[in-house]
Amino acid sequence: MTYCPPTYIINNSLETLRESLPVDQLSKMTFQAWFECVQGCAVRYRLDQIVYRCESCGGLLEVRHDIEALKRIPAAEWKRLFDSRIGRTSGVWSKKEVVLPELEEKNIVSLGEGNSPLIKSDRFAKYLGIDEIHIKQCGTSHTGSFKDLGMTVLVSSVNQIRSRVRAVACASTGDTSAALAAYCAAAGIPAIVFLPKDKVSFAQLIQPVANNAITISIDTDFDGCMKIVQEITKDTSVYLANSMNSLRVEGQKTISFEIVQQLGWHVPEFVIVPGGNLGNVSAIGNGFLLMREMGIIDRLPRLVCAQTDRANPLYRSFREGFAKFESVTAGNTYATAIRIGNPVSFGKAVKALRATDGIVEQVTEAELVAACAEVDRFGFFTDPQTGVALAATIKLVKANVISRASCVVVISTAHGLKFAEFKTKFHQGQLPEVDPSLQNNLIEVPADLAAVRAAIDGRIPA
Ligand SMILES: *Cc1c(COP(=O)(O)O)cnc(C)c1O
Ligand SMILES: [Zn+2]
Repeated sequence: MTYCPPTYIINNSLETLRESLPVDQLSKMTFQAWFECVQGCAVRYRLDQIVYRCESCGGLLEVRHDIEALKRIPAAEWKRLFDSRIGRTSGVWSKKEVVLPELEEKNIVSLGEGNSPLIKSDRFAKYLGIDEIHIKQCGTSHTGSFKDLGMTVLVSSVNQIRSRVRAVACASTGDTSAALAAYCAAAGIPAIVFLPKDKVSFAQLIQPVANNAITISIDTDFDGCMKIVQEITKDTSVYLANSMNSLRVEGQKTISFEIVQQLGWHVPEFVIVPGGNLGNVSAIGNGFLLMREMGIIDRLPRLVCAQTDRANPLYRSFREGFAKFESVTAGNTYATAIRIGNPVSFGKAVKALRATDGIVEQVTEAELVAACAEVDRFGFFTDPQTGVALAATIKLVKANVISRASCVVVISTAHGLKFAEFKTKFHQGQLPEVDPSLQNNLIEVPADLAAVRAAIDGRIPA
């Protein structure tokens, strides 16, 4: 099942480039990517090898692209090419050259991910007292979270080496398992998901069940599930789908490309993203760095990673200039999707934050609940993780770190509908941190016109 005839992408890319490029450049137009050790060991692996760590130092791997080849195409040409594909294919695969250039098009497993709206809110900007704020709605996606962007790439890669893979497995705080289950079901590949018992929302739990994944609830937290999946996937015929596998985050990098493209190739001053396992903040950082290398942009935004104070290992490290890293035991939080104490992509996130003069901010439960409630009043329907990013944004504006004349983009990571219990409890006054002035109560009246009128009167301007 693919979102559009896969050959379309090839035709589109070659034809538009052929029209505008000198013939001698066309022959060099092959783009390549491979795995390389993040620690700088000179070890390379092909992307179709089943390997998650550097065999020489044990460090994580990252996908590297042949930058020289990408740079041979002028920036103006890239922009024209990417613009020409808007709305014609998935957001991720419309950037195939910078994602997985060598993947055979027939193996693409797409559910129409990406191309998510970038919503400008004048009311929110006014509330904050800044020039411009946008929310990148990554939760407006097939399974309701940005994990779709990563999973289309990972499952497509598995599709290419299918004879060597019996199943794909992941540990999850809810959204990864929903995405894995959907993409695997679309491709007909068995999926196994490990979820921490009672720590994911109802919607998140039913998604992999509905997609017929082997859904295992374990009486532990995410970090405990992560340990188990790493053991299970030592058998390389069970492929690992967590962001420790850097193929997962390649697709997420397109968030940065989309933001800049949607702003008319303008770079915002700040990009704020909630962080748990820290794959997404790394991917977004990489996206901006790659665009700069390709000449598409000439400066970088400051990247802000927002954490809840119940699961804040990156924040603690940031406070000490990233001098050291200590994992924490993640505490109970409404932002269950970022309840992670031992983030796998810590090192990558530090790299991305250093490269972008980045910031890490933390927020309390009360701050995240209030931020969700405030911003919902501007027409959004925010999930608690996005609430963490919004609360961090509010704090950084108050502290004058984000100045008035800034263009700010907040990454919304999931659809609020996945967290309906959280929203309901807030408006019913069942969250202890609740600021009652932001609650909106359901009004129950008899089927009587006078009673209905009485309920409305006084609530709208006379
Ligand atoms: C996974 C997830 C995050 C955290 O992303 P990481 O890459 O783990 O840092 C944030 N919000 C939502 C809704 C998620 O599903
Ligand atoms: Zn290494």
